[in-house]
Amino acid sequence: MEHPLRVGEFLPSDAPVAAADAEIAAPPAGAVAPLPPLPNLPAADVQFLRPQDARYADYLPAANKRKQLAPALRAVCKTEHAVAVMVDWVRSNGLSFAVRCGGHSYEGLSQSSGVAIDVRGLKQIVVDKASNLVTAGSGVSLYALYSALAAQGLALQAGSCPTVGISGHLTGGGHGLLARSHGLTCDGLLQANVVDAQARVLRANATSEPDLWWACRGGGGGSFGIATEFKIEVFPLKTTRVFGVSWKLSQAHAAQLFAAWQDWAPNAPSNITSIMKVGPAGQGLITMRCIGQSVGSESELRSELRRLTAVRPPSSALSVQSLAFLDAVKHFAGPLAYESGLMKAKSDYVLTPLASEGIEAMMAAVAPIVSGGIVLLCDSYGGRIADVAADATAFPRRAGTQYCIQYFSSWSRSADTAAHLADVARVYAAMRPFMPGASYVNYCDLDLDDYASAYWGDNLARLVAVKQQYDPDDLFHHAQSVPLSVPTA
Ligand SMILES: Cc1cc2nc3c(=O)[nH]c(=O)nc-3n(C[C@H](O)[C@H](O)[C@H](O)COP(=O)(O)OP(=O)(O)OC[C@H]3O[C@@H](n4cnc5c(N)ncnc54)[C@H](O)[C@@H]3O)c2cc1C
Repeated sequence: MEHPLRVGEFLPSDAPVAAADAEIAAPPAGAVAPLPPLPNLPAADVQFLRPQDARYADYLPAANKRKQLAPALRAVCKTEHAVAVMVDWVRSNGLSFAVRCGGHSYEGLSQSSGVAIDVRGLKQIVVDKASNLVTAGSGVSLYALYSALAAQGLALQAGSCPTVGISGHLTGGGHGLLARSHGLTCDGLLQANVVDAQARVLRANATSEPDLWWACRGGGGGSFGIATEFKIEVFPLKTTRVFGVSWKLSQAHAAQLFAAWQDWAPNAPSNITSIMKVGPAGQGLITMRCIGQSVGSESELRSELRRLTAVRPPSSALSVQSLAFLDAVKHFAGPLAYESGLMKAKSDYVLTPLASEGIEAMMAAVAPIVSGGIVLLCDSYGGRIADVAADATAFPRRAGTQYCIQYFSSWSRSADTAAHLADVARVYAAMRPFMPGASYVNYCDLDLDDYASAYWGDNLARLVAVKQQYDPDDLFHHAQSVPLSVPTA
C-alpha cells in the first residue's frame, strides 16, 4: 500500500510526516541485566553498538516512535556466521532479544531493551538477469532492491515505503501496487536461508525444509529463526501507468462511490491494483482518493476508471502517467530517507462485499473526526494474489478476499496520542458488526484478542506444527509470534 506516513503521492495536507516525539527512548534504569562477555567476532562479521558508542544513535530510529526501544546491545550482523553466533550467545546466556530488519513493525516487535540482533549489515544484492532472480541479504530495504532490479530492467512486487525491510515485509506477505498483477512479495520466494534456534543455517525451499519455506511465506517475522538471505523470483518491467483521482463528498455520496469501488477493485483486470483512501474532510464531509498502478494499456485503465468517475464527479481530475518502474516506485514512495512518527493502525480483511449498512457505518464513523486525523486505506486483493491456494503458503487471504482495510493514524506530539488512539478505536469499533475478524500480520495490532487466528486463519494449525518442529523452546518469541499451541477459545 502507499503509506500515509510518507508524503508520497497523496497525504492529507495536515497530517504530520517527520519529526515526532519519542514516547519511549530508553529502558528504566536497572531494568536491563548487565551483559555477559560478548562473542569473539571480528568487525568483518559484526558491529557491536552499545549506548556509549558513537554510531549507536544512527541505528536507533524505528518507524513507530511510540514503540522504539534502546537496546543494551545492538549486534549489526554482516555475515550469516555472525547471526548464528549471536543466536547461540543469546540462547546460552538466556538473554532477552529481538530480531530487527527495517524496524517498521507497527507494534515494535523488532524492538528490545536487551539485545537487538540486527540484520541490516546483510545488504548484498545479486541480480541474475538471465534467470529473473535476485539473491538479497535479509537486511536490505525495499528501495535498495527496487533500484538494483530496475538497473537491470527487472522489478519486484512489494510495498511502497522505500525503507521497509525485506525481512518483515516478505515473511508477512507483502502487498504493493503490483499485487494484483504479480501477487504478494512472499509469492516470489524461492529460498530463505534461516538460522534456527540451534544456530544451524538451514536452506528452506521447495525440496529442503519445505515446511519452513511454507511458513516463511506469510507466517510473519520473528517466530522460526533469523532469515539471512532470500532468493526471489522477479520479472522484467520497464514502464507502468500510475493513476490518482480524488473526491470530496457528503457521506451518502461517499458511500455510493465506495460501493462502486468495492464492486470494481477486487474484480478489475489483474493488470490494475488500486487503493481507495477514505478520510474525514471536516464539516461532516468525506475525502476519498483512489490511487494505483497498471501494467496494462492506458486505454484499458481509463476505461476501467470510468466505473468510478461516472459515479460522482471528482474534485481533482484523474491523472494517469506512464513512468519507468523506478520512477513509479518514487512516485508512491515520497522521500527516500528513513522517517519515524507516532502512529497506530488496525486492520480488517473484507472477505465478502460489505453490505450498504457497513459502508454507511464506515462513513458515519469517519466523518466527525478532524480532517487528517485518520485514513482508511483499502488495498484491493484478487488477481494473482487469488491464484495461489489458501494453504499453499502460510498467507491465508487468497481467493474470495476482497480488500484489506487499514485504519491508520499518525501524529507528531505525544500529547495527542490518547486522542488519536481513541479515534482509531472508535472507527474500528463501529465496523465490528460487519467484519469477519481477519487481520493482516504486517499491520500488527496488539489490541487483538486472538491475533493468531486473526492473522493466519485456517493456516494456524500448520504454523503451530512448524513452530513446534523448528523452535520447540520458543526462543524466537515476541508479543505476537506464532504460538506453540493453537489457542483455545
Ligand atoms: C511506513 C510503512 C509503510 C508500509 N507499507 C507497507 C506496504 O506498502 N505493504 C505492506 O504489505 N506492508 C507495509 N507496511 C508494513 C510492513 O510490511 C511491516 O511492518 C513489515 O513487517 C516491516 O518489516 P521490517 O523488516 O521493516 O520490520 P521489522 O520491524 O524490522 O521486523 C518486523 C518483524 O519481522 C521480524 N524480523 C525482522 N528481521 C527478521 C529476519 N531477518 N528474520 C526473521 N524475522 C525477522 C521482526 O522480529 C519483527 O517481528 C508498512 C509499514 C510502514 C511503517
